[in-house]
Amino acid sequence: MGDRVLMVGAGLSGAVIGRRLAEAGHAVTVMDARPHVAGNCHTERDAETGVMMHVYGPHIFHTDDEGVWDYVNRFANFLPYKNRVKSTTQGQVFSLPINLHTINQFYGRTMRPDEARDFIATQADKSITDPQSFEEQALAFVGRDLYEAFFKGYTEKQWGCSPTELPASILKRLPVRFNYDDNYFFHRFQGMPEHGYTAMVERILDHPGITVHLDTRFEPAQAEEWDHVFWSGPLDGFYGFDLGRLGYRTLDFERFRAMGDWQGCAVMNYGDADVPQTRITEHKHFSPWEEHEGSVLYRETSRECGPDDIPYYPIRLVEEKALLNDYVARARAETKVTFVGRLGTYRYLDMDVTIREAMTAAETFLAARADARPMPAFTVDPA
Ligand code: UDP
Repeated sequence: MGDRVLMVGAGLSGAVIGRRLAEAGHAVTVMDARPHVAGNCHTERDAETGVMMHVYGPHIFHTDDEGVWDYVNRFANFLPYKNRVKSTTQGQVFSLPINLHTINQFYGRTMRPDEARDFIATQADKSITDPQSFEEQALAFVGRDLYEAFFKGYTEKQWGCSPTELPASILKRLPVRFNYDDNYFFHRFQGMPEHGYTAMVERILDHPGITVHLDTRFEPAQAEEWDHVFWSGPLDGFYGFDLGRLGYRTLDFERFRAMGDWQGCAVMNYGDADVPQTRITEHKHFSPWEEHEGSVLYRETSRECGPDDIPYYPIRLVEEKALLNDYVARARAETKVTFVGRLGTYRYLDMDVTIREAMTAAETFLAARADARPMPAFTVDPA
């Protein structure tokens, strides 16, 4: 007889762990407070235009992990999609990530790769040898002009604080290229599920060993009813936020419609500090193989997450890390609960990493059960 295992949250973590445990013979229940599966990856067709919407903002699948790529292709047909982002700043439209086209346009030059590399080296701040903050990383990397045009204003809007306070790791997400490659990601595998992420997650959850309850809120007091609980909700939420709230940024999406093609690309960033939005996304361009007359767009702004808002980006500054450590120390004492995913471990996670970690968490559980060892509260270190 298998265990009775509960997944709190029907996002990528809960679905991937649940599927593996169900395949291994455990009885899996998946609960989600929302009326749909797939968490923040949720996609749904707009009733008016038929466009597939990324309801909680854009999600572009990219990975170097062949195992994860094989996994998602088991449950969805992925079609080619390259993320080519533009940025409107200082009165012009540029190509992102910063590449040779961006550099030549920005400086009004016609440099070849080696010339641009040498030129940017003259712009970079060489006094910064060990960049600690986002700002230091940017100044050491591309110099002040490009930093102010593309990163400073955007980052202040996105994070609500000075880039001097943010860790360098956030900027490390973005490449700078000395060629004309304008693909935002450098991973080998990149694409979009033909029928959206929600259809993919529904298929992952479609197994006789899995029961899904939507619109169902889990109360931690119910934990006793299960042999084990995988919690993919906010770590602090499991404890009723009783030590305080871990800080997040939330997003507001002002939805608007247009006919035809409103902005000509999927993602237009806005680098200027005095333009309120961080970016505008035109969702039809996320499914370039489809044709729609109408168009739906999101004007995206970012702000501090309040108690009734949806948490998106974990802030993880010094203050948050101290509180995180307190919650983690407490959570480590749990023997029947494992905290997983972006919210459960309070980390900025891409989809592919979330899936890989969920696969690992499931294997860890199966191995622990096989050897009659306890299942740890974390299978990755949130610190
Ligand atoms: N960023 C920026 N300018 C841009 C795009 C990104 O300064 O035009 C910074 C910003 O701080 C952002 C980080 O780089 O939070 C990571 O960007 P990414 O595109 O990975 O953010 P996501 O798509 O995950 O929101």
